[in-house]
Amino acid sequence: MDFSLSEEQLAIRQQAERFARERLLPNYRAQEARAAVGVELRREMAGLGLVGVEFPEDCGGLGLDAVTTGIIIEALAAGDFNVAYVVLLASLNGQILVDHMEREVAQPWIRGICSGDILPALALTEPGAGSDAANLTLSAARSGEAYILNGEKTSISMADQADVAVVFARTGSREQRARGISAFLVPMDSPGISRNRFDDMGQHAVGRGSIFFDAVEVPARMMIGEPGAGFTSVMQGFDFSRALIGLQCLAVAQQSLDETWQYVNERKAFSRPIADFQGVTFPLAELDTLITAARELCYKTLWLKDQGLPHTAEAAMCKWWAPKLACDAVHQCLLTHGHGGYSRALPFEQRLRDVLGLQIGDGTAQIMKMIISRQRTARHR
Ligand SMILES: Cc1cc2nc3c(=O)[nH]c(=O)nc-3n(C[C@H](O)[C@H](O)[C@H](O)COP(=O)(O)OP(=O)(O)OC[C@H]3O[C@@H](n4cnc5c(N)ncnc54)[C@H](O)[C@@H]3O)c2cc1C
Repeated sequence: MDFSLSEEQLAIRQQAERFARERLLPNYRAQEARAAVGVELRREMAGLGLVGVEFPEDCGGLGLDAVTTGIIIEALAAGDFNVAYVVLLASLNGQILVDHMEREVAQPWIRGICSGDILPALALTEPGAGSDAANLTLSAARSGEAYILNGEKTSISMADQADVAVVFARTGSREQRARGISAFLVPMDSPGISRNRFDDMGQHAVGRGSIFFDAVEVPARMMIGEPGAGFTSVMQGFDFSRALIGLQCLAVAQQSLDETWQYVNERKAFSRPIADFQGVTFPLAELDTLITAARELCYKTLWLKDQGLPHTAEAAMCKWWAPKLACDAVHQCLLTHGHGGYSRALPFEQRLRDVLGLQIGDGTAQIMKMIISRQRTARHR
């Protein structure tokens, strides 16, 4: 077993950590007020080689592994959870295009994602289909060399900022469930598209909203994968994003803990640093232990992906555990800062609001536990 990082991974981590410390962390609150992650910031990250490093070189990437993508997301999210979303969405959507779309059609889009010029979204959820996504109804009807899309996607991250979206639509019948679903790459400036933004409790720089499709014409070559394979093959990309989400959330937890370890040394009560009280330090020690274990799980999941080994159950474990653990950790850090922790002058309340969203986004804990249970029972059947 080898837990060490390569020289290249260490250098990339250093680069991402410096960017997070100098550019992101001091602006975390201001970025929330901007309610967007602008193209300049995205280009800056891309210019440092931090976006889509796992994409093939002919698509603008560096051909690196999934573990390296995890290292980058973890480093960036310690500075700003929301800005790290850009890399997460680039990797999730980019990998889907790399794996399932005709290279010639996909290439300019992947290159644009890699350079920070194109911001992608993933549009699966609908008003009547969230956890039960195979029940989706947005229709894609064939018309000559195109498909005509009608319906609504909702709760989509970056809905009003995205330049393009991977959209899951029904090309078959409702009775076919998952086998009647196909995926399309849809430019968000296509005629017939309109969008809105929700009034959310957190993740304001990302933003969430609905995308409405009113007779939107999408050329047939923009289909991703085979007809009816949207669910069965394209959605396997979620095994990648779930481990990355785990690291994104844990980074926020670890950053909060590191700040809190420092604080308990400085803050005095009863004439002593509060670090002298086990009632203060033991909860922090427990959280540090759990975060360390959850981080290993996330990296192991990415390593399994890099080896081409099955990792669906592990990815679901990352996705239910890490966001919950991160919420618990940030909550404890807020409390340990006493009355100051409750103020907007410190970042804990924003972190709590931001991280909580990913206990739901990309699938709830219940759905992740269903996936794990299915994988495990199948093994014994
Ligand atoms: C911050 C955030 C970002 C998001 N980003 C995106 C995005 O970019 N793209 C996208 O497509 N979607 C996105 N979503 C939507 C998200 O994926 C869905 O909200 C999620 O899958 C749950 O669906 P739902 O909200 O319809 O809940 P429902 O499916 O209505 O579930 C409601 C509750 O019932 C539980 N439940 C449902 N079925 C079962 C069952 N069989 N057993 C036990 N419990 C069950 C659920 O766990 C949940 O607690 C995002 C959501 C959030 C909050």
